[in-house]
Parts: sequence; C-alpha cells; structure tokens
Amino acid sequence: TTVLTPDVLIIGAGPSGAAAASLLRQYGYQVLVLERQHFPRFSIGESLLPQSMVFLEEAGLLDAVEQAAPEFGFQFKNGAAFLRGNERTHFDFTDKFTAGPGTTWQIKRAPFDHVLAKQAAAYGAEIRYGHTVTAVDVDGETPCADVVDEDGFAYQVRPRFMLDASGFGRVLPKLLDLESPSNFPIRRAVFTHIADHFDPAEFDRNKILISVHQQHPQAWFWNIPFADGRCSFGVVAETDFYAQFGDLALDDLLPAILASEPSLSKLLSRAEFDTPVREIVGYSANVNSLTGRHFALLGNAGEFLDPVFSSGVTIALKSASLCAPLLHRFLQGGSVDWQTEYEQPLRRGIKVFRAYVEAWYEGSFQDVVFAVEPQDEVKRMVCSLLAGYAWDESNPMNNNSVKRLATLAEICRDGRAARDALGQA
Ligand code: FAD
Repeated sequence: TTVLTPDVLIIGAGPSGAAAASLLRQYGYQVLVLERQHFPRFSIGESLLPQSMVFLEEAGLLDAVEQAAPEFGFQFKNGAAFLRGNERTHFDFTDKFTAGPGTTWQIKRAPFDHVLAKQAAAYGAEIRYGHTVTAVDVDGETPCADVVDEDGFAYQVRPRFMLDASGFGRVLPKLLDLESPSNFPIRRAVFTHIADHFDPAEFDRNKILISVHQQHPQAWFWNIPFADGRCSFGVVAETDFYAQFGDLALDDLLPAILASEPSLSKLLSRAEFDTPVREIVGYSANVNSLTGRHFALLGNAGEFLDPVFSSGVTIALKSASLCAPLLHRFLQGGSVDWQTEYEQPLRRGIKVFRAYVEAWYEGSFQDVVFAVEPQDEVKRMVCSLLAGYAWDESNPMNNNSVKRLATLAEICRDGRAARDALGQA
C-alpha cells in the first residue's frame, strides 16, 4: 500500500480546513488536505460575521477574498435587519461594544470556499480533490487514515497529527464514536437562491434580513442578499411546522410557506424562484470531545448549533485560529493540554451563541431585538455578539448570558427602558 507521511492531514477543504492549512503553512509544515468533492461546490452558510474577518486576515486569506469580491458578487455587509409583522429594526455592526471589524461579506459559498482553498494551495498546502477518508486508526504511535480516490485507488496517510474539518461529513465523530446528541429539537431548513427584486427603498442589501413568522414565531426566514440582485432565501422551523403545508414538493413548499407570512411576502412580492429548492433536516450536532491524542476536530465536524445568527463559519475559523499555534507547539515537541487550551476556550464562545439561540426560539430574544433602543449601551453589547464577538470576555453580555438575556427580555417585555438592563442583569 502507498503510504503518505505529511506533518498534518486535514480532512475537508471548507473554511475551517483551508484556514488551518494556511496557518500551518505559515509555520512551514507539510500539509495534506483531502477533500471528497470537487470545488467549486455548493454549501449552505452564506452570511459571514465581522469577527470572521479577523481570522481570515490572520490566516492570510482576507486579501484573496477582497480581490475576488467583485467577480463573484460578494456583498458588503454591515449589519442584521429583523422583521416581525409591522415591526422592523436593525443592528449596525459598526456600532458595537467590542473593538474590531464591523463589516464583512455575504458570499456564495461555492466561489468563496474555492478562493480560500486556492489560497491555501498557493501557500503550499497539497489539496487532493475527489479523495475520501473512509477509515481512521488513532490508537497507534501515529494516526492513520485510509483514503480512496474516485478511480477506486486506495492508499494510507500517516501524519503526525490529524485535523477533522469535514463539516457535516463528521468523519472522526462517526468513525470514532464521538457523537453526542444535540439538545436542540430537530429543525428543518428549506432554502434556495432567488432573484429577489427587493425595492431599495424598502430593504438595505448590506444587511442580512431575519424575519419571524408572525403566526408561528418559532419559524423564521433568512434573506442573504448578494451583489448581483440575487439572494439566498430559506426558512427554518421544527419539523411539525411543515405538516400544515401537506405534501408539497420542495419547489412549491418554500413559496407556499412564504405566502403564509404577509409582511415578508410584501417585501418579496416581485421575487422570482428560478433555482431548485434544497433542504437540510436535523443539522444540529455535538460531540463528547473535540480532541484526542493525535487529532482535533475543527468547525462543524465538532459542534453545530443553529443557523439563526450565522455563527457557523465564524466558529469554524475560530477553531482553526485556536488550534494552529497549539499544533505548532505540539509538533515542536512541546506539551499541549488540548482540553484546557483548545476545547474549553472554543466552547466558551459557542456557549454564548447557544444562549442566544435558545432565547431566540424561546421568544425572549425576539422581544429584545424589537424593543432595544439604539441609544442603549446594552444594544451595543448585543450587537457585538450578533457581529460574532462571542469570545470577548470584557462584554458583560458574554458572561452569564442565559441569565442576563432572561433579565433583559423581562425588562423589554415590561416595556421599561432597556438602558437599565445592564445594571440589573
Ligand atoms: P464545511 O464547510 O462543511 O466543509 C467540510 C468539507 O469536508 C466539505 O467540503 C466536504 O466535502 C468535506 N468532507 C466531508 N467528508 C469528507 C470525507 N470523508 N473525506 C474528505 N472530505 C470530506 N454559517 C454561517 O457562517 N453563516 C450562515 O449564514 C449559515 N447559514 C446556515 C444555514 C443552514 C441551514 C445550515 C445548516 C448551516 C448554516 N451555516 C451558516 C453553517 C455553515 O454551513 C457551516 O458552519 C460551515 O460550512 C462550517 O465550515 P467547515 O469548514 O467546518 O465545514
């Protein structure tokens, strides 16, 4: 059998894999990335958060994204807008508590992921497309992966360390039995790309739009505009929400759900549905450990929460950013406590996002979103989180988030001024 021996094997060339590859190349390691698909390939997850710009820059990937933006219609983004019946509000990411970038992009993932992967390759990472990892053994002195390419040619890779960046493929969690159930109910996302024909007087393309379904507030829609007059459009709800729409085919289901929500229907009255509709069911996932002796899980291969605050790519890039310097120390012979130096810090921010996601579906954070006033300092703190700055421990809203959000929601619901919230939380 052919055996390859790079320093590091990365499974998957999505954002977490490409960022980790680029960072490890900066340290000079031999990096092999195995990607089972061919790029450009479709992926969901098109709205970035400003925090991700910090990680892209650190990985040496930001210039490539900026240069590619005009060609691929990447849309400048500076905030998030929310719609619920007659209520409309927005968060301006440049007006936030945490220092750092306040703008980012809305991107089609096919070209975006390709740009990142090509840049990682330009830095010297070897990327093999159409190669699938089928089995792993992490019990020996070095880890070992079995790989097969599209011609059925099988070979092995014995790196010094393995990074699983396989996203929803969840290669190591499945093969090593690391999966643990998510405590979120099973939700289903139904989505496509549309020609949106938004009226510029009615909607600012520089923002993602999150719309609450007025009759069913646990259901919500996203609109993520691109720069070419198109947008990503989808709905998320628990599986039983869909029963009222009967047995419609996906292409008919999404317009039917839109038609059941009058305010958003009005905004999208001229939209053209011209692309097949897709779905993902039961996307939330977790693992009981993000690391082992010779491996670590990055991005979605570890934990995935929920799409509502567009945190996925940011968490994926944060995981690469945290992991790379530790791996460098490890490969230099130093000792690394992966639990306290990688898993715990990464999960700290994920836990903050989780508090917001739970409060969103419970309804309390929806009330905060529509009540909090621009002059309130607490709005700037919430805005930091919505901009992705979940790891900023100086933000009071990032500590004890569950309790603080509950208090803030009570204040908002009572109709009291949100500016009192911080002191009482
Ligand atoms: P991925 O981008 O999934 O990349 C993993 C790669 O690994 C893939 O290319 C795959 O082909 C490859 N792979 C898998 N198995 C193997 C194997 N056995 N061998 C070799 N290669 C393999 N995130 C956001 O930031 N913003 C959003 O607006 C957003 N919206 C979302 C909406 C929905 C409905 C869902 C479900 C998710 C959304 N996300 C969003 C999350 C986002 O899609 C992911 O968090 C992000 O893609 C994770 O990046 P990654 O690098 O971990 O994995």
